[in-house]
Amino acid sequence: MAILEVDDLRKEYGGFVAVEGSSFDIERGEVFGVVGPNGAGKTTTLKMLAGLIEPTDGTAVVAGHTPGEPAMQRRLGFLPEESPLYEEMTAIDYLEFFADLYDVPRDVARERIHDSLDRLDLEHRERRIGNMSKGMQRKVAIARALVNDPDVLIFDEPASGLDPLTTNYIIEFTEELSDEGKTIVFSAHNLFHVESICDRLIIMNDGRIVARGTLEEIRDAHGGTEYHVYAT
Ligand code: ATP
Repeated sequence: MAILEVDDLRKEYGGFVAVEGSSFDIERGEVFGVVGPNGAGKTTTLKMLAGLIEPTDGTAVVAGHTPGEPAMQRRLGFLPEESPLYEEMTAIDYLEFFADLYDVPRDVARERIHDSLDRLDLEHRERRIGNMSKGMQRKVAIARALVNDPDVLIFDEPASGLDPLTTNYIIEFTEELSDEGKTIVFSAHNLFHVESICDRLIIMNDGRIVARGTLEEIRDAHGGTEYHVYAT
């Protein structure tokens, strides 16, 4: 059963069409890839699903709710491409602060936060966020997306610009979250980061979906040079 339904979604910025004619369904428990080059419309799509920007046209339903509804926000975790972290706070203070915003009881929050950080292998949790490396900051941002124990996770290019070790931790953790039943939307510039974890994916270019299906289906339909372009 689809937990996320997108029908003819469109976003225009003052006459410029960033996303057009986007329709897809995501099944409960799926890892769903959104792949495409710079400016393809990935972030715009993901932000519409997360209720952070309004579509110009079309509809999205996430876990039975319209994006942006408070009931949906409680069931959703969003990892932005550039996480606005509070540099002066320690990772733990920052994550507890967000858990408070979701009314997660302190003891539950503490256990959940440390569990996420253990699984992501984040050390130095009492360090100020501003003094952490980019990879450590990304791990904190992922733990933040999990503080409310959401059913649906939207990860916008979680692995971009990171070293291979951190990338591996993030990909393995995403797989584990999927095994635990979470539905995950995972965007990336190329197939490299998604091929081992995505059940199905869409490939976007210039605001439109240009390929969809399992990796094999896309490979069969767009084999040879074209597939190679998507894959690199
Ligand atoms: P990237 O991989 O670089 O993040 P993306 O696939 O996520 O790219 P989007 O950020 O969704 O792409 O942008 C799609 C297009 O919409 C781009 O041409 C971008 O310049 C444009 N765009 C995005 N946000 C705005 C905005 N607030 N105002 C005007 N144009 C915008």
